[in-house]
This record gives sequence, C-alpha cells and structure tokens, in this order.
Amino acid sequence: MTTIPTTPPEDAEKRRAIAPVICYPTDTLPAPDLALYRAARRTARKVGEVLVPPRDAATFTVPAGSFFRISSVEGPQVGDLNLWNAQDLSERFYSGKTRALHGTHLTAGERMWSSFPGMRPIATITEDTLGWYGIDSFGGSVHDVIGTRCDPYTNNLLSGGQYHHCCHSNLTRALADHLGVCPAEAEPHVHDVLNVFMCTGFTRDTGQYFMKASPVRPGDYLEFFAEIDLLGALSACPGGDCSSEHSSDTAACHPLLVEVFTPEAALGGWTPPALNGYDRSHGR
Ligand SMILES: [Zn+2]
Repeated sequence: MTTIPTTPPEDAEKRRAIAPVICYPTDTLPAPDLALYRAARRTARKVGEVLVPPRDAATFTVPAGSFFRISSVEGPQVGDLNLWNAQDLSERFYSGKTRALHGTHLTAGERMWSSFPGMRPIATITEDTLGWYGIDSFGGSVHDVIGTRCDPYTNNLLSGGQYHHCCHSNLTRALADHLGVCPAEAEPHVHDVLNVFMCTGFTRDTGQYFMKASPVRPGDYLEFFAEIDLLGALSACPGGDCSSEHSSDTAACHPLLVEVFTPEAALGGWTPPALNGYDRSHGR
C-alpha cells in the first residue's frame, strides 16, 4: 500500500466505521459430505507415492474418488501445489476464486475450485493436521491462496540474476517431463498455487504479503479427496520452511511426500461435480 498523503474528509472516521459485508457468503455453496469421504478413506489402500526432492518438483495423478496426502518428512518444508483436470489441462485450480469463496487460507472441509468455465470443486481438503494453528497474532495462518509461487521473473526484477529452482520453474520442468514437451510449452499451464504448509499473511500497517517459519513438523500432512481425475504437480520450495528467504540456495530444504490412496468400497451416492451451470451466452 502506498503512503502518498491525502487530505481526509470531515466524515473520514464515520466512513471507516462502516461494517464490512462478506462478498461471497458460502451458505448456498454445495457442501462436501465429509463423513462419507472419511468413511471411504478408512477402506482405502495406498496405490502410489512420489517423493518430491528439495528445490525441485514432481507430478502425480489421482483418479476421481481417490485421496492424496502431502506429508512433511525429514524437516519443515513448504510446498507449492498445482492441480489440473487430467483430461483437459485448460481446467485448472483457480486460486483467486478459491480465495474469494473460502478466504486467504484453506483447511479441512474447504475446496479447491477450478477455472472458468468449469468452475467446480476439483479437490476437497479432508484432513489438516495443522488445523490447530488458526490465525496467529500477526494475522498469519497456513496453507494460503494469497501468494502466487516464487518465480524467476520477480527474482530477476528484485535481485537480478538467473535462478532456476523457484517453484515456478520447478513446476514447469516437472510438467514438461510429464507431458514430454519443452519447458516453454509447459510453462503457460503453470498457475497460482495452494501454498501447502506455508505460514503467511498481510501486515496490518502496510498491507504487505509476509511469510514466517512454517509450524509444520515431520508427520504433519494435508489430505485431499479428488473430485475429478487430477494431474498434480508439487514443488518443494527453495525457501524451505520460508522463515527467511526464498529464490536462492541458502535455506535448509527437505523433501515432501505425496501418497495416493484408493477406497476399496464405492462411495455411495457420490458423483464427480458437474461443470458450472452458467450457459455462457453472456447476454447475447
Ligand atoms: Zn517457492
């Protein structure tokens, strides 16, 4: 927020005192059946795993109706998560709209929504071992949808140089390898992330994006239910626990574990969410 001085009107305090209104009340959003998901999870068996190396990324696929878990292993580490419709990469996680619906940080019971025109829940968070953290006295919380992802362009702008292990580049290389294309072809598919385990907020005095040491410890995890067939990519951020800096090789970094679990029993009554119901005529 810039601080160019302006002259306040006489009724400035009265205007500031107007109570806020929630932009998108979520009481009419279709609610996930967490009890159904958790019952199915108890019957699930592990069908795959990938260990994401520090300062690098890896892809994974999750069939609709299965679960995936992202775990901290070895030491505190944050991850940058991208999700796509496995059959159509143009439908992908929409961080901004998810933020508008659920707030700045996600936890169990909340959902990751997809881009227009699909705009439907593509994953539902079913477990969050950091759910206890809440919002701290700085206004910080975990698993944000306010940051974008660390990237070499912003790094070049602010610090100069060519750093190749920002989450944006890690995700780009991992997706390129998965698709069998060059990085330039994969890069436009990389999008704003869910910052898994990252502890962030906005400063009250300047409104600036801040990060602080993640409260995550080995054994902590975030688990998701795949509402559609998903392709995921996860980067183990070069910021490590993001206690000091990112976009360099100075922070201590650790791997992240992704595991996929498929229920043995069918999920009674559950079907993948339909594409958004808007008719797309835009008034014409
Ligand atoms: Zn990063």
